[in-house]
Amino acid sequence: MTVHDYPTFSDSPFFFDNRFLSIPEDEAAIVRPHSLPKVSYYHPKGVGEYHYGDRHPMRPFRLELTTQLALAYSLHERMTIHSPRLATSEEMTMYHSEDYVDFLQRVLPASKSAIKLKNLLEYGEKKYNVGNDCPVFSDVFEFCQKYTGGSLAAAKRLVSEGTDIAINWSGGLHHAKKGEASGFCFINDIVLAILELLRVHPRVLYIDIDIHHGDGVQDAFYLSDRVLTVSFHKYGGLFFPGTGGLSETGAKDGKNFAINVPLKDGIDDESYISLFKNIIEPTISRFRPSAIVLQCGADSLGADRLGTFNLSIAAHGECVRFVKSFGLPLLVLGGGGYRISSVARCWAYETGILTGVKMPDQLPRTKYHEYYAPDYSLHPPLAGGKENKNSPVDLEKIRIAVMEKLRYIAAAPSVQMQEIPPGLEDLLKTRQDD
Ligand SMILES: [Zn+2]
Repeated sequence: MTVHDYPTFSDSPFFFDNRFLSIPEDEAAIVRPHSLPKVSYYHPKGVGEYHYGDRHPMRPFRLELTTQLALAYSLHERMTIHSPRLATSEEMTMYHSEDYVDFLQRVLPASKSAIKLKNLLEYGEKKYNVGNDCPVFSDVFEFCQKYTGGSLAAAKRLVSEGTDIAINWSGGLHHAKKGEASGFCFINDIVLAILELLRVHPRVLYIDIDIHHGDGVQDAFYLSDRVLTVSFHKYGGLFFPGTGGLSETGAKDGKNFAINVPLKDGIDDESYISLFKNIIEPTISRFRPSAIVLQCGADSLGADRLGTFNLSIAAHGECVRFVKSFGLPLLVLGGGGYRISSVARCWAYETGILTGVKMPDQLPRTKYHEYYAPDYSLHPPLAGGKENKNSPVDLEKIRIAVMEKLRYIAAAPSVQMQEIPPGLEDLLKTRQDD
């Protein structure tokens, strides 16, 4: 069965009709018919209890909302739920620099005198970019250990073939750099999880649908042809992080293995889904990944507090359904998302897509029911707040530019020939040397 045999969301009657915005009745026909995939859900215990600060838009509490909603929809009957162990600093230094990890570990406010702490924080602001966007809140290192532990455990389970799909909504912190924090992200759990997958997978495809450019992951693998990164994001003006233009394509062995899809404000469901499928389908057929990592930042939804797109939850979920339809080992991660009631709906809905469960539009009761007022529905109207500034001509230009890059990938001998992955040490050595 090719991907074209699957019903697509954009040509279904559900698309523009709010009454039917849920998984179609014939979901079983969409899932590969011979068997349902095994799904493992990672929820680090207590990960929703950390606070970036009263006025900070990042609220880990959204993870608690998401999991409670998924449980209320009985999705646990179709997947296993795991509470992973904390990631260690040794695991973090598989990518991050030791001094940076050491700083995060030592900066616990409770363990320092006021003077020592002040000095340490000032040093951190200069050297590691902590401060405003990335505040050193109480137990910040433990928070990093939890979400990173989730992504590493999920990747390990995929590597050992203990699951087909692994989900960690607390992960997906795509901006963190090797030696510094960035954009609310401290430790880059995605890079660490991909390194784990590369132990057995010759090629890993990374797809990022957060509204912000997945710069931290792109940077980590910019010189490698074993990881192809594709990021769909808003680009232009002062929008964070300012990178992700069409011309960023990778370098050395990684030339053409970084794909960027720079978009303008207000992109709507139809244009986004069409572009997403037109790029992802040929990317998979040319690159031939043996595993996929999908970052599902929910700040690309309409009405996000920081985002400027116009996507509905159903459209965001359609990207997840499309990626799942290829039947490859899949690691699904969270990311941004700053209207927490939308984030919880979106990620619960996508958990339903991944487990093949049809979810009624009326939300089941949870102890957080009041967060979903006034409609208490899975698919509230989110679109329409922004004018779509992406013309069909702009989008076609982007698509053509990406197709041009993919032509080179098809011709890359190391990808075509190299079925057995080289040692991970070699990959890391190459990156450090550069
Ligand atoms: Zn984001």
